[in-house]
This record gives sequence, structure tokens and C-alpha cells, in this order.
Amino acid sequence: MPSGILETDTTVDDSATAPSQTAPLTNSAASRQKAEFGKAGPFENAKLSWNRIDWTVLGWMLLVHAGCLAAPFYFSWPALAVAVGLHWLTCSIGVCLGYHRNLSHASFRLPAPVRFFTTLCGVLSGEGSPLTWAATHRVHHARSDRSGDPHSPRNGVLWSHILWLFVRRDANEVTELHRRYAPDLLKDPMMRFFEKTFGLWLVGSAALLYLVGGMPMLVWGVCVRLTVAYHTTWLINSASHIWGYRNYETTDDSRNLWWAGLLAYGEGWHNNHHAWPRVACYGHRWWEFDITWQAIKVLRFLGLASDVDDRIPSRDTTTAEPPRYTDRH
Ligand SMILES: [Zn+2]
Ligand SMILES: [Zn+2]
Repeated sequence: MPSGILETDTTVDDSATAPSQTAPLTNSAASRQKAEFGKAGPFENAKLSWNRIDWTVLGWMLLVHAGCLAAPFYFSWPALAVAVGLHWLTCSIGVCLGYHRNLSHASFRLPAPVRFFTTLCGVLSGEGSPLTWAATHRVHHARSDRSGDPHSPRNGVLWSHILWLFVRRDANEVTELHRRYAPDLLKDPMMRFFEKTFGLWLVGSAALLYLVGGMPMLVWGVCVRLTVAYHTTWLINSASHIWGYRNYETTDDSRNLWWAGLLAYGEGWHNNHHAWPRVACYGHRWWEFDITWQAIKVLRFLGLASDVDDRIPSRDTTTAEPPRYTDRH
């Protein structure tokens, strides 16, 4: 069984956060009580309603998707090349290697400058701050396809693919999400720096692309690139919990889906990942190609990645016990 971030108990101890039920609530106690999570965690009962829409996220998504409508009118080969290059850099290196395998699962260590670079690439993917991404993803592993999973297809395919993103969370809830699910990252000044600045990096990179290449770079290098990146990432939350085959009998619905594996830089071998979350390599059979794992191997060869968890588990499902994360990550 992979070591590290672990297992079995899904009970949340609220003793540190629950305010007294008898004493009058101060403002801060009231706000903390507001952010108190139920037994199934911070995404319990998350539903989309008119008074709970995150208009910033919804507006951003509409803007980026609408920009794709202009793509045929602004096509150029250099803009396409930049879009493809940035897609790989921000998704494979930023999200898959940085946000997911390094930050969320601690599958290997990176020196601070490399960690800064991979995290910055993740920021430029437009998938939110590293703290929120990692904390939310850890909740997904803790509650996978059960009550409290942020994006289970059991609550609807469209919900798991995109709608769950549009539920507004107030600042107290986000702070509590970080505190409960990513306390290790919250201690890191680099993560706190990106928490404050991630939007600026994203908007700044879009402005830079526009200055360098005008509308073709803005439309292709930002709108088309982000839209493709969003949907390939979201397919892991939706399609990879619906279609495909299973190497391991995990307690969730995760599947290995070959085309999602290729589109999402190795993340589509999702059943392997749910069974062995900390293992850095997501392809466990010879044909399960994981290009992000190749990048990790290059970093290790260059001496830039250490403590890489590279143990490919046995395919014997009787010995491959599916580990579970605790909510107390
Ligand atoms: Zn999953
Ligand atoms: Zn994961």
C-alpha cells in the first residue's frame, strides 16, 4: 500500500472549529460557524441555485468560451503553435505534474525554484489557485462518489463536468477548506503568495500574449487553449468516473479511459490513480501511456525531482487494497 497521505477514517473532528452553542456569537465566531462543515465535508449539499452562483467564475467561463467563436477569423500557424505549447506547459507540467501529483499528493519533491515554476504553470492553466485546487481535489479523494464529493457523476454528468464550479463559496468557507484539507500547503509562503496573486498572473499573461501577437494570440493562446484545457481536465471528473475499464476494485466509480488518458496527459488512467493515489506514475500496464510521468522521469534524471514514489503496484486486485484518504488530510 502506498505510504503517505492516508486512509480509512472519514470523520471530521470539528472540535477545533465549532463555537460554543450557548455563548453569544462574536462576529468572528459567527463567521467561523458559517464555515463549519458537515460530516460529509465542505461540499456536502452543494447545489446550484440563483442566489448561490459564482458570477465571477461563470462570467469568466462564458468569456473564454465565447472567445472561441472568433477562432476561425483569427487563425494563424504561430498562434496555433503557441496554443499547443502553452496547453502542454500549463496542463501537463502545471496541473498534472504540479498541482496534482506534487502539491495534492506529494508524490515527489521539487526544489523551491522548480516548484515555483510548476505551480506558476498551473496558475496559468486558469484552473484556480493551487491551494483551492489541491484542497478540493483531496476532498474528492476523501469522499469519492459518496456524499460530499465535489464532482461525482452520480449527481449528474453535467454537474460533474462543469456545473459544480459555479457554486459560490464565501471567503470563510474557502479559508476553512484550505485549513482543513491543505494545512501543509497553507504553511508554504509560496502557496500563500499564489493565493493572493493567481488572478493577476492569468490576466497578465493574456495581456502579454495580446501585446506580442494581437488578436490571434489572444484568441488562440488564451481562449481556445483554456477551453480545450478546461474540458480535458473536466473529463477526468466526469467521463473517467463513468466509462472505461478497471484494474482495481476501488470503492468509487473511477475508470481507466484510454482517450482521456491521452487527452489529459496521463490523468485518464484514473482508476489506477484512485487505487494508488500517491504513486507518481498513472500508467500501470504497458499500454497505459502517461506522458506526465515521462516529464517526472526527466526531472528525476536531471536531479530536480527526489523521493519519487515510483512503485507500480501489483495488478493482483486481491493485494491491491484501495487506500482511502481521511478527511483530516
Ligand atoms: Zn476521481
Ligand atoms: Zn488525485
